Amino acid sequence: MDAHFSPTLPVYVMAKPAGALCNLRCDYCYYLEKRHLYRQPQKTMMPGDVLETYIRDYIALHAEGTQVEFVWHGGEPLLQPLSFFMNVLRLQKKYAGGRQIINALQTNGTLITPELAHFFHEHNFLIGLSIDGPQELHDRYRRSRSGRGSWQQVMQGIGLLNRYGVEWNAMAVVNDATAADPLGFYHFFKEIGCRYIQFTPVVERLLPHADGRSLASPIEYGQAELAPFSVTPEAWGEFLCTLFDEWVVSDVGEYFIQIFDATLAGWMGVLPPVCSMARTCGHATALEHNGDLYVCDHYVFPEFKLGNIMERPLAELTRQQSLKDFGANKERLLTRQCRECEYLFACHGECPRNRFALSADGEPGHNYLCAGYRRFFKHAAPYMDFMKRKLMHGEAPADVMEWARKRG
Ligand code: SF4
Ligand code: SF4
Repeated sequence: MDAHFSPTLPVYVMAKPAGALCNLRCDYCYYLEKRHLYRQPQKTMMPGDVLETYIRDYIALHAEGTQVEFVWHGGEPLLQPLSFFMNVLRLQKKYAGGRQIINALQTNGTLITPELAHFFHEHNFLIGLSIDGPQELHDRYRRSRSGRGSWQQVMQGIGLLNRYGVEWNAMAVVNDATAADPLGFYHFFKEIGCRYIQFTPVVERLLPHADGRSLASPIEYGQAELAPFSVTPEAWGEFLCTLFDEWVVSDVGEYFIQIFDATLAGWMGVLPPVCSMARTCGHATALEHNGDLYVCDHYVFPEFKLGNIMERPLAELTRQQSLKDFGANKERLLTRQCRECEYLFACHGECPRNRFALSADGEPGHNYLCAGYRRFFKHAAPYMDFMKRKLMHGEAPADVMEWARKRG
């Protein structure tokens, strides 16, 4: 999941209470193979002392009276039993010191029980649930170890969240299959009443490593080849434009699609809700089960480790120059094509993890998805201009729908 970007915090942490362990084997998962970074890949449950150190030190990063947002991520965090999350609440209470604590949890949705749903509701957990649309699209890549599709279980999980009144939103991956049916994909979310959707393009490159990992790190160019499930720039552009055409005439203010919100934020010159579209990043670290801290959830590679919270205080690790440099590099290492791009203000070269292509003038380190983004920004520009004008006059951006319908 791309980081939700919180402008109020100096840094936040995506914690992995079960490491990279997961009950599913989704083909495009970038995190499963992180288990190879550890000597005992099947024993990556976060121990109590790491959990307590993390909760204590993370809360202490926040000024008294502020809000502290915990994000529980995976792998699959619900491989941890309910007692783990009860302990989380106990420790948060112990160290809160007057701060308000909120919890978000990202799950594949297959392990939700009535007991858990009740717990999430009682304690106001915000759930991010991974689902790739209707069954035939979802089950193509999101399968169990034995190859069985997971859609039925996920739908049961959604049913439980709804029954217990748990707040949830959808994380949907745009891959080669889902990109081929943009409207079928989008309509599914509308049909199930999901109003907050994050569509994330999946792009991975394959490069075997001696330790068993098979994905290339963002700084490994070499012989890496594009994974077959990746979305192409053309398909990504087509996907965004097709979705936008429907959204802008009928769904503005009703369905919240993160990339459209982020684009409008760029048009308004305010911080977008997602790090990939921000000017710089480096505010969203990832914490492995044993206390290892990495610069970003998408950069859990040995060369991007900041240290271990059991050896050095979290505050010290997150103040390191290497993290600042990592965040600043998002802007500093833009290609000339990006720096001269008319849409730089909204795109900012997107996420550095996708910058492995050549720019139009042959410069390495250009964003692979660029052509898709350019097409989308050009397509959406008149509507973004309109919504910006509305917002600047204190009027509703949803007025764009009538204007768009008339425009045809
Ligand atoms: S590299 Fe930066 S932009 Fe990309 S996911 Fe990580 S924090 Fe976000
Ligand atoms: S649209 Fe392409 S050239 Fe423009 S900022 Fe984004 S990645 Fe760079």
